[in-house]
Amino acid sequence: MKLYQVDQDVLRFTSRIRSVKEKEDGVYITLHSTYFYPEGGGQPADQGTVNGKEVLDVFSEGEEIYHKLASFSGLTINMPVECVIDQKVREDHSIQHTAQHVLTAVLKDQFGVETLSFHMGKVHATIDTDLEISEEVRLQAEQEVNDLIGKNLPVSTYYRDKYNLGDIPLRKAVQVDSNIRIVQIGEIDWCGCGGTHVKSLKDLRLFKITAVEKYKGGSRIFYVAGERAYRYLYDMEDAISKLKAELGVNLDELPFRVRQVKEERDEYRKAYGALTLDLARALVENYEEDTVVQEVEYEDELIKAMGNHLMKKEKIAVFYRKDGRIFIFTGESADAKELVRPAREEFRFRGGGGKTMQQGFIEVSEEIGPFISRIYEGLLKLEL
Ligand SMILES: [Zn+2]
Repeated sequence: MKLYQVDQDVLRFTSRIRSVKEKEDGVYITLHSTYFYPEGGGQPADQGTVNGKEVLDVFSEGEEIYHKLASFSGLTINMPVECVIDQKVREDHSIQHTAQHVLTAVLKDQFGVETLSFHMGKVHATIDTDLEISEEVRLQAEQEVNDLIGKNLPVSTYYRDKYNLGDIPLRKAVQVDSNIRIVQIGEIDWCGCGGTHVKSLKDLRLFKITAVEKYKGGSRIFYVAGERAYRYLYDMEDAISKLKAELGVNLDELPFRVRQVKEERDEYRKAYGALTLDLARALVENYEEDTVVQEVEYEDELIKAMGNHLMKKEKIAVFYRKDGRIFIFTGESADAKELVRPAREEFRFRGGGGKTMQQGFIEVSEEIGPFISRIYEGLLKLEL
């Protein structure tokens, strides 16, 4: 039996070092006794210190519990050490973990949905379910969990053997026959579990499902509880306040206003596209030469539209910008790929295209001029 299971409240203890193993990524020590929670069952390891040194990871292998440290300078076998478990982290993990028991119980008992797995991350915890969760179930389950928190059901832990389980309705079959650790929540849930939990549901304070995604035929439910739930609401509030101020509307008008802004943007884009085509046509009207080489300050879209018009008129055009952007339009009059090839070998030109058009970037601004000169030489050869 692990000591954190015997007394979850011990967060400071003295022990002695039993073994020290040095590996490439750190030092792994075992203690004569430890209250640290090793990662397992979806719950991350405790954090804390051993003689002031930060514990980077805790995990178990067989009967041993390893504590990973960055170095072992100052630590020797058998020396007494002062161990501290980070209370805030432990509490947070206990809250998220207990919230999972409650959510799992509610989903199963009220909606017939099984929990398949549980994972606790730094921001969210998730469970995966066997069935897809509808929006309605999501809202009802969330409310039900909060109602149970309000009822402040006690959470108790005790041990039974397989043969004296009596009529305890374990939620899931357990792997062991003896010393089954049963975590009971009020009269709603009995679960064989080795994790850490709160003592009563009021410690969960608030429960919020933050997202539901489709996952392997079921759903992945993201949730937060306790301090994490308040943090989530603060962040949400902050983001919404900024949106409200930016758009000058109230909360209830916000979705409508965002849709309006998107529709306006789409209309502007359409108008801009049409204007670009008109402008391109007007700009190329004045080109009389068969070949155009010109530095421009136009956007890509306008340059492309100009190129298209010029190609229709069987003209060749090379447009380039100060930022290194280069377009070469040859249409059917020449092979753009062949035209660029010699310059490509000499300069750092990133880009491509087909026989009628090439586009790309010259990365080094000093190379733009020489690159264009080389293209120009190619064009003169074409005309010969
Ligand atoms: Zn548990």
